[in-house]
Amino acid sequence: PRVIFSGIQPTGVPHLGNYLGAMQQWVKLQNDASSNTSLIYSVVDLHAITVHQNPDALRTSKKEMLAALLAVGLDPQKCTIFFQSDVPAHSELMWILSCSASMGYLSRMTQWKSKLDLDENANPLDPSSKTKLKLGLFSYPVLQAADILIHKATHVPVGHDQSQHLEFARECAAGFNHLAGSKVLVQPETLLSLAKRVMALDRPTHKMSKSAPNPKSRILLTDSSSAISKKLRVALTDSIEGVTYDPSARPGVSNLIEIAFNLDSSNHGAADPAEYAKEFEGLSLKALKDKVAEVVDGHLAPIRARFEEIVGGDGKILEEAAQIGAEKARKSAESTMKEVRHAVGF
Ligand code: ATP
Ligand code: MG
Repeated sequence: PRVIFSGIQPTGVPHLGNYLGAMQQWVKLQNDASSNTSLIYSVVDLHAITVHQNPDALRTSKKEMLAALLAVGLDPQKCTIFFQSDVPAHSELMWILSCSASMGYLSRMTQWKSKLDLDENANPLDPSSKTKLKLGLFSYPVLQAADILIHKATHVPVGHDQSQHLEFARECAAGFNHLAGSKVLVQPETLLSLAKRVMALDRPTHKMSKSAPNPKSRILLTDSSSAISKKLRVALTDSIEGVTYDPSARPGVSNLIEIAFNLDSSNHGAADPAEYAKEFEGLSLKALKDKVAEVVDGHLAPIRARFEEIVGGDGKILEEAAQIGAEKARKSAESTMKEVRHAVGF
């Protein structure tokens, strides 16, 4: 059997990067799944608090993230969609894995360095990191490993930024199995998403991200037509005349072309963004942005409408979805934990 696990942090309303890099693939996996495949998607709130969150804002973000997952087409009957903190066994397995996880390996990971804006040679015991770096942020790959291993996931769809963590999860599984003397945990494979990274509108050399300070750097799945147009109008491009697709020389323009290429259902028959760009060759950059806004709005309109419907209701849809998901996830986690607890001697 195939078990697919992936997670998303409730750190804000999801944007086009989350959609093209993750959520759209999750829906595709759901719609293509055969009967021997189970799909488990988690709203990872325990990960969100590795950076301080305002409690009320976090509660809102959790609801919005679940609503967005339903709005893009995930079905709580066909997959397991749950809040990570509803399944305490994730934290329990994390502790157990922590007892054999290597500090050296964790200190070489890059994520905590980039979150704290430290350089790649930073060491957790350097004076500059020591006070800023919290234990949870440092060890969160162990929690991520627990998330995956507790459901015996065989495949994990992630963006390129996460492949290092998957390797760590495989290490954790192998290490645990070695100590236990039996194959309790499954080493998962990476399913790299085909879509390239969507870049920030204001800084096309950085990825679009929920937690970047500038709200104009990202297009949310819930943005209105006019918000989409406004954000695109001020997107950073260049002063070269005409439209061409050239990611290294024209990152801003190329990012817009890629976004439209990925969301345009007709695609004008183009096989790739470069071919798609030919359609717009003679346009000014302003006209290109209007064109992209039209494509983005056309794709997001039905998602936005479903989102409003779900969030605007009495909350029953979300409560029910969360409850069904939590029950299924607890069951799946518990069956692994029985073996794990026995293996460590509990
Ligand atoms: P945060 O800034 O809080 O880390 P985020 O936007 O990076 O938020 P995550 O919840 O960390 O989103 O990641 C969820 C999923 O979305 C992951 O699979 C990640 O690889 C993918 N993802 C995030 N940003 C992008 C992007 N710009 N392009 C493509 N995929 C992305
Ligand atoms: Mg992220």
